[in-house]
Amino acid sequence: MSDINATPRAPRNIHSPTIGIIGGGQLAKMLGQAASQLGVQVIVLTDNPQCPAAATCHRIITESSNSLASLRELASQVDVVTLENEFVDAALLRQLEEEGHCVRPTSRSIELVQDKLIQKDVLRAAGLPVPAFVDIPTRESLDIAIAQLGLPLVLKKRRNGYDGKGNATLRKIEDAQKVWDELSGNQHALFAEGFVDFTHELAVMISRTPEGASAIYPVVETIQKDHICHVVKAPAQIPIDVKTRAVTLAKQAVEAMQGVGSFGIEMFYSRSGEVLINELAPRVHNSGHYTIEACECSQFENHIRTILGWPLGSPTLNAPAAVMINLLGMNNGHGYPMGIGQALQIDGAHIHVYGKSLSAPSRKMGHVTAMGASLDIAFELAQNAAKLIRFGDSKI
Ligand code: ADP
Repeated sequence: MSDINATPRAPRNIHSPTIGIIGGGQLAKMLGQAASQLGVQVIVLTDNPQCPAAATCHRIITESSNSLASLRELASQVDVVTLENEFVDAALLRQLEEEGHCVRPTSRSIELVQDKLIQKDVLRAAGLPVPAFVDIPTRESLDIAIAQLGLPLVLKKRRNGYDGKGNATLRKIEDAQKVWDELSGNQHALFAEGFVDFTHELAVMISRTPEGASAIYPVVETIQKDHICHVVKAPAQIPIDVKTRAVTLAKQAVEAMQGVGSFGIEMFYSRSGEVLINELAPRVHNSGHYTIEACECSQFENHIRTILGWPLGSPTLNAPAAVMINLLGMNNGHGYPMGIGQALQIDGAHIHVYGKSLSAPSRKMGHVTAMGASLDIAFELAQNAAKLIRFGDSKI
């Protein structure tokens, strides 16, 4: 007879799947929230033990993520290694794969995406429309690019740019040296893009399985200020044929990168009616945060599902409209906001505070999502809550 007081033991061959995330920011935190719902364990590799992901992961390996030794330590403890930013060197990820570890997205995808110039080359070679661009290996090549692309143009760092850090718009020929210095052209590899006169910036999230099946989220409009995303509106208010084009391009772009997992594809809808791909993120993305409340299965859950080889969840919107507003730091200060008590009185506003230790001007500290019968209704609801929440308020 079996002893009913004995500690239950899991049957052989069953264990909690464990994923390893490179990076511990808000994206890793929200991946951890989705993982825990499915009983998936999370180990995070980051050099900051007070990171947002500390709230939702089982363990942190406190090491640099650009060292092979620490990546090996992570990989040896998990079923699959994934990432929340594209800054880890693809060659290190390839080494993990060669040692038999599962990395998703693969090192090849990261290699094609992490250098924005290579990314643009791959997209163009796949026949996909992108803004005109040229390599800028020297200061002299910037002068040639001005003649070739015209002004304004956007000068960009090839690697490690985010939230506009790593971009500068050159409007006047006499500012060429200033803009070159601003991006430290002597130290960083740069490229230049023709300035796109767009009416809308669009984004699509796609979660793609290792077998090539995709969950495609709605086309959204993203509104940036100073190159930082402020508002996401789902679905974008654009003609249906433009939506169809955007979805087709986004899908082809992820296929060109052999992507597995959730990918964000940013696009421009130009005044002349073109849809051009701006860039891909080989990971969950700010333009998909609204999916947590507004879609049947979020970009985060679908990322977990795809990297573990599980079935895709539905990306369908569960309301006619949804709006996400980023909560940016006002000043240097505490990472917990003022005004949250008032904001929580607004029913239907879903508030996320990332749990960063410190606020800084324009730092992404949290976000609010609201749904509604129309974009206007959802926007008003989200905005009413967002304006009450203040990070680093200098008046305190
Ligand atoms: P990051 O990776 O830092 O977000 P992006 O290349 O996406 O950098 O650029 C950030 C923002 O800068 C874009 O969302 C867009 O508003 C603007 N931008 C970038 N490239 C161009 C371009 N070629 N023409 C016009 N605006 C651009």
